[in-house]
Amino acid sequence: MRTERVRQAAYRMRHHALNMGEAQGQGYVGQALGAADMLAAVYIDQLTFRADDPHWADRDRFLLSTGHYAIGLYAALAEAGIISVEELDTYGSDESRLPMSGMASYTPGMEISGGSLGHGLTVAVGMALGLRHQGNPARVINFLSDGELDEGSTWEAAMGASHHGLGNLIAMVDINALQADGPTAGVLRTEPVADKWAACGWHVARVDGNDVDALLGAFDSVSTDKPSVILCDTRIGRGVPLLENREKAHFMRIEADEWQICREQLTEGYQGVSA
Ligand SMILES: [Mg+2]
Repeated sequence: MRTERVRQAAYRMRHHALNMGEAQGQGYVGQALGAADMLAAVYIDQLTFRADDPHWADRDRFLLSTGHYAIGLYAALAEAGIISVEELDTYGSDESRLPMSGMASYTPGMEISGGSLGHGLTVAVGMALGLRHQGNPARVINFLSDGELDEGSTWEAAMGASHHGLGNLIAMVDINALQADGPTAGVLRTEPVADKWAACGWHVARVDGNDVDALLGAFDSVSTDKPSVILCDTRIGRGVPLLENREKAHFMRIEADEWQICREQLTEGYQGVSA
């Protein structure tokens, strides 16, 4: 039941992402598809929030370091009822509250302006420390990409989180093995990545990030005594074979006649999951 709710939300979120992408003809659609299960697990199963009051003091904080994944987050915010599905049609247009790169000042439920990688976890550590000082039981979840692990500030924050025993902090890393300049293994090797987080003093889980059961199991296993990281191996473009196999997957240009094919492939792959 729990798994099915998340899977169905992820399926709808992938459709939202295709619809938003079509309005622009291009974008970070591959990331939205690849991370849909992670974001659905967070918003449908994990976060405590009030949809009608995004600044509620006791809300769990979700920090998107990777501002270019905003298209995926907007789809999640719509599923969570924080913004409407109709508003997604404005994605990336002038005057929209949904810019292509996530900005906290524009979008309800967007906690930080991401995009310059390597800052999200440092902010998350500060927030988690602050919440603990206030006696606030809220948790902080920071979403990172594997490319973001190239940033030294991420590891400084990782050591700080462990030093302070931040059991109210969870990091999740989208390991799609790609980054803007090419395969992660070729740009700057991050493996063995689980060992690196463990050496920094974190509880570590590594799962197939497109397997909802595995994701929920990882969330169930997090520590409350120290920070936890969930390393999520994903496939960029997941759910749409046409895009899963595309070169230049970081920022996709998709032809006008391909969007409908994408939607049909997505629906076909999810037969048995009602929309
Ligand atoms: Mg990546």
